[in-house]
Amino acid sequence: MALKPGELVFAAPKRGKKAPQHISDVAAKDRKKFAEDLGLPGFRAKQVALHYFEHLNNDPDTWSDIPVDLRGTLKDLLLPELLTPVRSLECDRGRTRKDLWKMHDGVLVESVIMRYSDRATVCISSQAGCGMNCPFCATGQSGLTRNLTAGEITEQVVMAARALDSGEIPGGTMRLSNVVFMGMGEPLANYNAVIQSIRNITAPHPEGLAIGARSVTLSTVGLVPAIMKLIDEDIPVTLAVSLHAPDDELRDTLVPINTRWKVSEVLEAADAYSNKTGRRYSIEYALIRDINDQAWRADLLGRLLKNRNAHVNLIPLNPTPGSKWTASRQEDEDTFVRLLEAYGVAVTVRDTRGRDIDGACGQLAASEISITGAPAE
Ligand code: SAH
Repeated sequence: MALKPGELVFAAPKRGKKAPQHISDVAAKDRKKFAEDLGLPGFRAKQVALHYFEHLNNDPDTWSDIPVDLRGTLKDLLLPELLTPVRSLECDRGRTRKDLWKMHDGVLVESVIMRYSDRATVCISSQAGCGMNCPFCATGQSGLTRNLTAGEITEQVVMAARALDSGEIPGGTMRLSNVVFMGMGEPLANYNAVIQSIRNITAPHPEGLAIGARSVTLSTVGLVPAIMKLIDEDIPVTLAVSLHAPDDELRDTLVPINTRWKVSEVLEAADAYSNKTGRRYSIEYALIRDINDQAWRADLLGRLLKNRNAHVNLIPLNPTPGSKWTASRQEDEDTFVRLLEAYGVAVTVRDTRGRDIDGACGQLAASEISITGAPAE
């Protein structure tokens, strides 16, 4: 029987069964009590956190500071398996790798490692599927399956850090330097789990992975109240706003949540965030041929952004299967860049790494059904 796109992601979930609790689901200050409530000596939580976050080591056999007969129990209760590898696809001579993971309930999720000469980034998912329904995004087409837990989000980062640290990614061992929430899902629609995962990523060893908040980018459609709430968390991650159109009329169709929070409100929230953190934010803009790439829209965008602490990241559209839309013509992209620059707005055009493994924006997991052809168990 042929599977329809997205079916695999929906087919198998054992609904209602919660993901096993993991120390990364628990705030650092509560981990001792978490262990004690499980009948374990509280101080063991810190030892396990050190193995996990600092040494990226979840192999109890090597935990020489812990009695042999306790190791297995600690692993099962504090570091239960959250992501099982299903398959990996590589390109760029192995320097870009997309990993597909199966979670405890059979739901699939993906992350992508991108190694560059001077840094290594992992692009992670915060939800299986997405409820934002942006018509150009593959994830948006199949709706939301479920939120990921903080542990499931963090584990994608730990797995990537381990792959780089162990030399699995060609080019020698390397430290994971950047994390971007640009995989599946709308991170601010899974607020609490995403915040806890950011704390795990940014906290110093042994409580977290010690990756600087500035090296973590959270990309959002612009859920204004959640952006305002983020301001109060005091974790100055880099904010990226998926604008895709400077005018409400078009943005209402490209990013449907715009019918709730308009372009001006989203930009004001991003300004407030930037005022608090002192950080420049990114405006993401997928260039779609004859849809949002007209010179007048570049002009309007330039006027909107000229006095803001923002930087524009243009993304050549990565067409989803069956999509009627395609990337802009080169000359239109060039004009778009030039017009924005004329307003003094900083612009970059995103590199399209991972396209040949469907690892590029909005393409995650959706393609998997055609590869495995069977629902995950
Ligand atoms: N929900 C978050 C993260 C999504 S993915 C958000 O919307 O920001 C990160 C970026 O990739 C977003 O800007 C998203 O709009 C963009 N994107 C999605 N599908 C794309 C496609 N087919 N081509 C180019 N960019 C795409």
